[in-house]
Amino acid sequence: MKRVFYFGEGIAEGAGLGKEKLGGKGAGLADMTALGIPVPPGFTIETSVCLDYIRTGDLEGLKPEVEQALARLETATGRKFGGPKNALLVSVRSGARSSMPGMMDTILNLGLTAAAVPGLAAAAGERFALDCRRRFLQMYSDIVLDVPRSEFEELLTRRRVEKSAASDADLTAEDLRSVVGQYEELVRKKTGRPFPEDPREQLWGAVGAVFRSWDNERAKTYRRLHRIPEEWGTAVNVQAMVFGNRGESSATGVAFTRDPASGEKRFYGEFLPNAQGEDVVAGIRTPRPLASNGSGTSLEETMPEAYAGLLSVRDLVEKSFRDMQDLEFTIEERRLYVLQTRNGKRTGFAAVRIATEMVSEGLIGEDEAVGRVEPEQLVQLLAPVFPLREKEAAIKADRLLARGLPAGPGAACGRIAFTAKRAVEMAGKGDPVVLVRVETSPEDIAGMNAAAGILTTRGGATSHAAVVARGMGKTCVVGAGDITVSEERGELSARDLRAKEGDFLSLDGTTGEVILGELPTEPSEILRVLIDRSLAPEKSALFGAFTRLLGWADRLRRLGVRANADTPTDARVARLFGAEGIGLCRTEHMFFGENRIGAVRQMIVAESEKDRRVALAKLLPMQREDFVGIFREMGERPVTIRLLDPPLHEFLPHEDEAVEKTARDLGISAEKLRDRVRALSESNPMLGHRGCRLGITYPEIYETQVRAIFEAAVEARRQGLSPVPEVMIPLVGTKGEFDRLKVLVDETAKEVSRESGETFSYHVGTMIEIPRAALRAAEIAEHCDFFSFGTNDLTQMTYGYSRDDAASFLPEYIEAGILPDDPFSTIDQPGVGELVTIATKRGRDARKNLKVGVCGEHGGDPRSIRFFHDAGLDYVSCSPFRVAVARLAAAHAAMTGSSGVSSTA
Ligand code: PEP
Ligand code: MG
Repeated sequence: MKRVFYFGEGIAEGAGLGKEKLGGKGAGLADMTALGIPVPPGFTIETSVCLDYIRTGDLEGLKPEVEQALARLETATGRKFGGPKNALLVSVRSGARSSMPGMMDTILNLGLTAAAVPGLAAAAGERFALDCRRRFLQMYSDIVLDVPRSEFEELLTRRRVEKSAASDADLTAEDLRSVVGQYEELVRKKTGRPFPEDPREQLWGAVGAVFRSWDNERAKTYRRLHRIPEEWGTAVNVQAMVFGNRGESSATGVAFTRDPASGEKRFYGEFLPNAQGEDVVAGIRTPRPLASNGSGTSLEETMPEAYAGLLSVRDLVEKSFRDMQDLEFTIEERRLYVLQTRNGKRTGFAAVRIATEMVSEGLIGEDEAVGRVEPEQLVQLLAPVFPLREKEAAIKADRLLARGLPAGPGAACGRIAFTAKRAVEMAGKGDPVVLVRVETSPEDIAGMNAAAGILTTRGGATSHAAVVARGMGKTCVVGAGDITVSEERGELSARDLRAKEGDFLSLDGTTGEVILGELPTEPSEILRVLIDRSLAPEKSALFGAFTRLLGWADRLRRLGVRANADTPTDARVARLFGAEGIGLCRTEHMFFGENRIGAVRQMIVAESEKDRRVALAKLLPMQREDFVGIFREMGERPVTIRLLDPPLHEFLPHEDEAVEKTARDLGISAEKLRDRVRALSESNPMLGHRGCRLGITYPEIYETQVRAIFEAAVEARRQGLSPVPEVMIPLVGTKGEFDRLKVLVDETAKEVSRESGETFSYHVGTMIEIPRAALRAAEIAEHCDFFSFGTNDLTQMTYGYSRDDAASFLPEYIEAGILPDDPFSTIDQPGVGELVTIATKRGRDARKNLKVGVCGEHGGDPRSIRFFHDAGLDYVSCSPFRVAVARLAAAHAAMTGSSGVSSTA
């Protein structure tokens, strides 16, 4: 079977085979070659070889195919691999299915043996040839021979100091010759043998190392964070070298076919003249813009032909790949080569804008646009920003430290950490953190993940920091070159301002401003249009795009989306975000209001039913009023109201002072109250006297709540509304519990109807949150109108992990791979999920029109939503601020085979 695919001179064996086989880079190279885009020739070794090799350590079988491709490459370039004169030099790069920027290894200038140096020197100059050799020795030895990069750096730095050279560029050919000699000596000393000068040995060493780099620690961390499966593996691309560092008519750069931060349709990118490969991405020098900005330094102004070539590539790739592309290019002596194209990483803002604009441009269809935005990315659009007035005041007060390039939008404010390690530690203590680095590298990934915002002082909008932050949806400012960072002193400074580790710093990732100290935040543009109405919808293009996209998503999805809302205000927000009903109203949340908790406590300490009823009578009108407010907000949409669930002692004070005050308020002695608190305390309250067990033992509590619901329904009907209350019984484990409480609800409904002379419709259902209830779903469903999975408790009780205490061990479980995810965030499909499937089937078999939903936290998690869709549930219910995410996730779930998520990853 063919595993090596050649590309070059308009011929691409792998064209159309896709990134599963060839990896993103390999597939892009093949497809670009087929489109006639100038790509240096080369070949791709497919991804399936990677894991085979990691397992067996054997690449022997691949050799004939690679030899064949190498021969073609020699013919195409007119050069000889290992030849002394006009040696063919290649790059060896990784390329996984989904891009993993900087996480795996790359080797450049391979084939540049000691014998080949004079030939290259004759063609391109001695200094250039020696510099290439030096870079090759360093990269190869670091990656393949395990000689640390830092030891090479040290030798180079020493030479620079000796020669008082400001940068590497000031070293002469003579200096570099001596450095190369020292490098070779270092390798001999460290490995016990000379640097391998057989180009084929070099090639196989490099191919093996790149395959192995799939398994290095930082790649593993990246995969875990981005949920990239271990078994994908990486491809290896071997490609003829082109040089962007062959003098001032050469350059290397990166371009985006649209702005990756805002999504605006403008050609966006940067380049560095006389630079090689990774220099731009590594963020070591701050690059120049592509398009003319009047400074005279842009590519458009300095190399107009190459710029024009790039513009036509931009058109070709957008039309062909029908998505925003991220291009890497090199200009060698004015000749343009494109080294890579891939779907560009983008912020949530850009994702929404690009998807909707591409529909308007006729490039993609509406369904495709829906698939192009990751549900989780919508969260960014709702994230807060700094209020303009506050920010201006801070700037006036001379707190503006610097301006950098806006690389990840949003507002972030946190304590400064100068290393990734400190960022993780400080964030672990619950502090928001801003990670400040000169530049980031793949080793910083955990710190970047822990930080609220990221600031670098070097590098451009395509530097490692920018690309990774964008992928994570983090606020990020890069290239704030006016700031000096001293990691050793734990200090940063700019102008005459200074800040130390732990001081507050505010980053505006939309404008690039870096401000000393704390700043408050305010709602995002979407919220200003939707919720506070401080912005007219027609004034916000972003809001327009957001609404269009969600409109298309609604057309596609089958799952209903409701919200968990406890108050009329929450209900309003939920409705404005498009919730089709309320899936969970936790009535106990209403109990904590200032004017209510007294009556609740009075009810709890009461010793007789009569006394309890006195207290409940005070609560009833307040609850009724809340429900009327919610019905008013929700109109005809269903509202599921859950009866009291938590253990009663949660409502009682525990501190001495509070106990005394409460006792005074209740008119009883502190001693008596203490006795009651003691009597109510349980060793295991989550498994104790809570949920429907309260309704069984104190029926008057549930009776009062149900009465408040139905009286509110009557009141709402009188106001011309048609509410549909759904009364939900929590924590049911047996049919007996449910049936008994169902009678109580029906009796109360009859009473309210009789008293008011009004009829109203309602439903009675149960939460399924105890494994026994899931298993006995058939009998429970008999008199039940709906099930709502309480997956928080169902997860707790299925695993036997306390939902309040699991944080002490879950991170270690996940780290060790014992669990793939936190089961309280993403549904455990094989275990808890099976209970959901069983209960749904048994419940529906017993009662055909049983409505089934979910109201645990998982109702707002995109991966869980996909599962609930597949399990045939009717709806999910989540927090109001996740309703948009759930609408989009439900659409993705309905689009079978949608690869929307990975296509933008
Ligand atoms: C649940 O258990 O999933 C649920 C929604 O109820 P609560 O979180 O209030 O226990
Ligand atoms: Mg629960």
